[in-house]
Amino acid sequence: MAEEKMEFQAEVSKVLGIVINSLYSNKEIFLRELISNASDACDKLRYLSLTDKKLAGESTEPSIKVSTVKKDLSITVEDNGIGMNKKDLIANLGTIARSGTTAFLENLSGDEKKDTALIGQFGVGFYASFSVAEKVEVLTRKAGGRDAWLWTSDGKGSFTIDKSEKEKSGTSITLFLKKEDKEFIEEARIRNIVRTYSDHISIPIMIATKDGEEQINTGSALWTRQKKDVTPEQYKEFYNHVGHMYDEPWLIMHNRAEGKLEYTNLIFVPSTKPFDLMNPDRKHQLQLYVKRVFITRDCEELMPAYLRFIRGIVDSEDLPLNVSREMLQRNPVVNKIRGALIKRVFNELQKKADKSPSEYAQFWENFGPVLKEGLYEDHENREKILNLVKFKSTNSEDTTSLKDYIERMKKGQDNIFYISGDDIETLRNSPQLEGFKSKNIEVLFMTDPVDEFWLPMVGTYEEKSFTSVTSSSIDLSKIKDSKKDKKDSNEEKEKANDSSIAKLIIDFKETLGETVKDVKSSDRLVESAVCLVAGEGDMDLHLERMLKSQGHVDTPSAARILEINPSHPLIIKLSKMAGKPAQKDTVKSMALILLDEACIIEGQTVSDPSSFSERLNMLLEKSF
Ligand code: ADP
Ligand code: MG
Repeated sequence: MAEEKMEFQAEVSKVLGIVINSLYSNKEIFLRELISNASDACDKLRYLSLTDKKLAGESTEPSIKVSTVKKDLSITVEDNGIGMNKKDLIANLGTIARSGTTAFLENLSGDEKKDTALIGQFGVGFYASFSVAEKVEVLTRKAGGRDAWLWTSDGKGSFTIDKSEKEKSGTSITLFLKKEDKEFIEEARIRNIVRTYSDHISIPIMIATKDGEEQINTGSALWTRQKKDVTPEQYKEFYNHVGHMYDEPWLIMHNRAEGKLEYTNLIFVPSTKPFDLMNPDRKHQLQLYVKRVFITRDCEELMPAYLRFIRGIVDSEDLPLNVSREMLQRNPVVNKIRGALIKRVFNELQKKADKSPSEYAQFWENFGPVLKEGLYEDHENREKILNLVKFKSTNSEDTTSLKDYIERMKKGQDNIFYISGDDIETLRNSPQLEGFKSKNIEVLFMTDPVDEFWLPMVGTYEEKSFTSVTSSSIDLSKIKDSKKDKKDSNEEKEKANDSSIAKLIIDFKETLGETVKDVKSSDRLVESAVCLVAGEGDMDLHLERMLKSQGHVDTPSAARILEINPSHPLIIKLSKMAGKPAQKDTVKSMALILLDEACIIEGQTVSDPSSFSERLNMLLEKSF
């Protein structure tokens, strides 16, 4: 059969260009990537052969071999793992399927410097080979099949695939080094790179020497070693390999549980946000091992979705080696491990929150919105999560815990007040906050979409109920601000009297009719004349807007309560006109304009823009 020539997918060429560019000072990691792939391939075969009898015969002791041919300037990494067939080759080495890489491409700015910095956050993978090689050959045979294939490319836009021969299944990747990169042919250099980056790999990595073969890495699974025998660099390399993350771990949890339940966990919290964190599949990233043998990344029950930022492995002594996917579902051992892991993670996070607030702030910035999903879906651990959540508030630039908020609460205050919306800057200027600000009552900002979901579910913290400042049931007059009240009594502000406000309210209601639920005099307004609030039991204003913007067009629009500020000069003036037939038309058009104004402040559209501008123009005309 003739050799077939194919083009790389356009994105691959792009990635290739950037990878080669960005690795010029750190080319040695090509070897780390090749060994990482070889190790993954061996793990895959080992797991499949547990359940597939056909493959069982092919599965020998997994091993990875590195060899060189000086005169060709070639270096070969060979494994006896799963291998690839023709389709796999095209899909894996000719196109880009990985979600991380797709996200990477979407983030490219076209500015070479910035893009090069970006690549540090991604696995560069197989394509890193082209940073040192002028030609790459991949000879591979898939376990369970007979055909072997030879893939070759110079990394310049195309590759070829040709039928070939290979004695055993697995993959052998040969790099023909560029002259300027001939240092990588030296045995000492290779040993050094493998020890630096790949010592944690549990499969033996052999190097061919004059006298035969020699193992370079330690070869025992990193998590089976004592903590004191593992260096921070080894932990980091392991994390990078299993987590497909390329930052420093923010938190390392390495524990062995003995007794009724026996397992080891080596898990990490990243210090940066993975690009697929908000993918709709919400898959967790823990790998399950049984007695040092890799089993799967897909044991859904091992970790709840709201802890999907955690990376690493769990190695159980209690599960059988031939455990199948079905057996893992609703498995009591898996469930117990899950419970213990959640507890451990919460304990460690709480320690960080208490002892290193600034480090915790970094974690919260990255993963707070994800952890908050747990408030909504993990009833059992709700209290623990409530102790971990942080909020920005009207009182400070830093975040606060709920506990600290409660300590600062005013006399007579028995609610935890919050305001929700898309961004803090807009929220800070909300008219609904004015009364709270003037009384120095702290209000929490809820700006994550998930907030709208857990708030109604959770309801209270330490018997204080979460209350939106846009809810109509708030009575601010009960809450005392010791400093402020004294000052206020000295300079009592002018205010419309109660009976004329009552008349104005009647006029407003008559004009606005069904479009509002009610019109009320307000004590939450200071500078603004009007605002909208939600009636008791009605959907919060922000939630309604959010659902609509997400395409839930059938969300009912609840009629809102219009609150008016009896101390505002405009309202005072209007209240004097209320009830008088001669002024009726002015009061009427003002009622309509003020309602539209309240809608605009709330980020809503006015119901009838053309009448709105007509009325506005009329008023403007009068003002000259
Ligand atoms: P990643 O390892 O993050 O998936 P890579 O670019 O390193 O990305 O590798 C791309 C894909 O090529 C792998 O996911 C795997 O399917 C395939 N692959 C690479 N090397 C091997 C190998 N030695 N054996 C089998 N498959 C491999
Ligand atoms: Mg890889």
